Amino acid sequence: MLQSKLFTKTTKTLPKDETSFNAQTLIKAGFIDKLAAGIYTFLPLGLKVHNNICDIIREEMDNIGGQEILMPALTPRDIWQATDRWENFDVLFKLIGADKKEYALGATHEEVISPLAKKYIFSYKDLPVYIYQIQTKFRNELRAKAGLMRGREFSMKDLYSFHGSEEDLEKYYKDVQKAYFKIFKRCGLLDKTYLTYAAGGAFSKYSHEFQTLTEAGEDTVYICDDCRIAINQEIIKEQNVCPNCGKDKFRKEKAVEVGNIFKLGTRFSKPFNFQYTDGEGNKKDVIMGCYGLGPSRVMGTIVEALHDDKGIIWPEEIAPFRVHLISLKQNKQADKIYNDLQKSNIEVLYDDREETSAGEKFADADLIGCPYRIIISEKTLAKNSVEVKKRNSDKCELIKIDKIVKLFN
Ligand code: ATP
Ligand code: MG
Repeated sequence: MLQSKLFTKTTKTLPKDETSFNAQTLIKAGFIDKLAAGIYTFLPLGLKVHNNICDIIREEMDNIGGQEILMPALTPRDIWQATDRWENFDVLFKLIGADKKEYALGATHEEVISPLAKKYIFSYKDLPVYIYQIQTKFRNELRAKAGLMRGREFSMKDLYSFHGSEEDLEKYYKDVQKAYFKIFKRCGLLDKTYLTYAAGGAFSKYSHEFQTLTEAGEDTVYICDDCRIAINQEIIKEQNVCPNCGKDKFRKEKAVEVGNIFKLGTRFSKPFNFQYTDGEGNKKDVIMGCYGLGPSRVMGTIVEALHDDKGIIWPEEIAPFRVHLISLKQNKQADKIYNDLQKSNIEVLYDDREETSAGEKFADADLIGCPYRIIISEKTLAKNSVEVKKRNSDKCELIKIDKIVKLFN
């Protein structure tokens, strides 16, 4: 991509009411735009990042047998009435159609997936099955001051699993935990993300959250460093020793919940009379699990967790471009390097702007945060070379021009 042609530019102008660091930085760098509190547009750079996160999630969900679908965001009142959540789900956005019927914008999709799955699951032979979607969710959040970390409109991956026994659910629940850690590793958040025990509801003692440590988080967790797990503030009152080692030595930290997994049991199969026939011909309620993860929240969390005072430091798989090529003088060699990198499928943002100073170009590159920066100038050209620098290091390396493509292959 030629930077001179990029739809967005970096800016110093911020919406007055934007107080979160992640949204401020993403707006400055031209990744997102704010329409209203908790409502953002994803611009070309931002959409690339968001898509990269979604691609990783898709891959890891497919790896554990997930099948992707897309459910409607507009949902009728009766399905929420069936589970008693029309009145009791406090953040549901409600509206009235021209048919005078009431609707809700999907805040989560148990009420859609359960009657849907009932149409295809009849016997134990149809189980287990794992269905997910990546979709825009709507929640009428009271406070939306955390930028992408708490949207009123946001993206969620929601996976639902259907089982014939609790043991089978338990097994899959563990597989999802492993898959989530793979996702957080690829998103650069592994070091700061903790499996966290939280309240479980009627069916199981605990649910589990994936909490990433950051001062910008709205949650508080208690970490057991020996076991590398955490307990959510809300359950530390009941669960005041580590469920793994039994010790009560905790470190208190601020964190954000990037994922949440839950054994639903029969909470949603019962109201929809969603049953299967077991091997002996008996009718039984289907046992369910649900597994949420928010790509847009993950994007905000990466910015909060991985930055310096100059800007964002994207992990390689998440970055909008792998390489930011900066030409300090418009020249044929820079064009050639750009074309060679493109031909080798190396994603590159080429700062070809003619009226922009070197200082501005460097500042923009640091703010935007691509993992590698290549600088080509009179000075480097004299040595038939370019300068290569990693975003997270101060070391510059001179690389011969004919070795560049190989360096990134
Ligand atoms: P929180 O406790 O932070 O309000 P939650 O427990 O309501 O979140 P879930 O209903 O489990 O969240 O949603 C699954 C995932 O969706 C969360 O782990 C998070 O990654 C994401 N998510 C939830 N609410 C929001 C939001 N308002 N903005 C952005 N992402 C969200
Ligand atoms: Mg929660």
